[in-house]
Amino acid sequence: NKQIILRDYVSGFPKESDMALKTSTMRLKVPEGSKGVLVKNLYLSCDPYMQSRMRKPDGASSLIDSFTPGSAIIGYGVAKVLDSGHPDFKEGDLIWGMTGWEEYSLIPATETLFKIHYTDVPLSYYTGILGMPGVTAYVGFYEICSPKKGEYVFISAASGAVGQLVGQFAKLIGCYVVGSAGTNEKVDLLKNKFGFDEAFYYKEENNFDAALKRYFPEGIDIYFENVGGKMLDAVLLNMRLHGRIAVCGMISQYNLDQMEGVHNLISLISKRIRMKGFTVFDYYHLYPKFLDFVWQYIKEGKIVYMEDKAEGLESGPTALIGLYTGSNVGKQVVVVADV
Ligand code: NDP
Repeated sequence: NKQIILRDYVSGFPKESDMALKTSTMRLKVPEGSKGVLVKNLYLSCDPYMQSRMRKPDGASSLIDSFTPGSAIIGYGVAKVLDSGHPDFKEGDLIWGMTGWEEYSLIPATETLFKIHYTDVPLSYYTGILGMPGVTAYVGFYEICSPKKGEYVFISAASGAVGQLVGQFAKLIGCYVVGSAGTNEKVDLLKNKFGFDEAFYYKEENNFDAALKRYFPEGIDIYFENVGGKMLDAVLLNMRLHGRIAVCGMISQYNLDQMEGVHNLISLISKRIRMKGFTVFDYYHLYPKFLDFVWQYIKEGKIVYMEDKAEGLESGPTALIGLYTGSNVGKQVVVVADV
């Protein structure tokens, strides 16, 4: 069983050398009496929060446990059941949920797994549009932002797994949508593939406030926050009265030893802004509703989704680290095996 393990806890930016390939033997049977599910992993998901699990547990701020050095990295994935002691799953079922960065995993019965019923889409979609990032975009936009037709929406890291969907949801209800992204290629995708009204290459802008004023002369009603730092500060200066900010992520801050300060929070008062953080883990009860909703739009071709597939388990570390430099174009997936 080939695995990608975490060598040791990481501080600062994770590097490829913090992970290693390890091979061991594994019996492809669920142990007698176990209610676990033995799976063959097909697709693994690279997600920005995973760096937090590479750090030494600090007790207070972590939402989710750290990985165990020497053991396989854990993350969302799509897998096929080979054997099961769990009453809800049987051999041949396709599932998505938390699995290991390895060819085969014995997933404990305590883990929440979702059975895959719709299979006439790429199965890798269950790491993205039909999986955790999809639910994040859905609850973040519809539940947290309280959007209305005609409102002005800004999304940072807009071409990524979550952002590309938020923008398309916002267009569906008739908002004016602008995204920021880290390459000209991504800007082009936002405008010409995902239907954003405008997009800009933020690394070329030396004044985010001026850039936002260019695209939002009347201000921003909704900001879907994925990056934090200087972008958040500039957005705060450009929000409209009664604006909403959904704090989904702050990827620009995750690997810094000292996070940047935010200076313009005082705007929240005079502009009566609602700024709310959320985590998708609190909203999985909405998954069936979400799935029916987004499935229909995929079938009708009204929502498209872009993935960036890295081939082979060995490509996992490079693919994961690429999230923090922006080398992924769309949802970053690692292809481990065919069904
Ligand atoms: P993406 O697919 O968007 O990949 C990450 C992207 O972040 C990169 O491609 C890059 O895009 C951008 N980025 C990386 N470093 C920086 C930086 N220093 N400054 C600005 N942008 C940067 O990831 P996801 O769509 O999966 O996640 C988007 C956000 O949503 C993240 O912050 C993530 O943590 C958060 N999230 C939160 C969840 C929740 O429950 N609250 C659940 C899932 C995700 P570019 O080239 O455009 O800079």
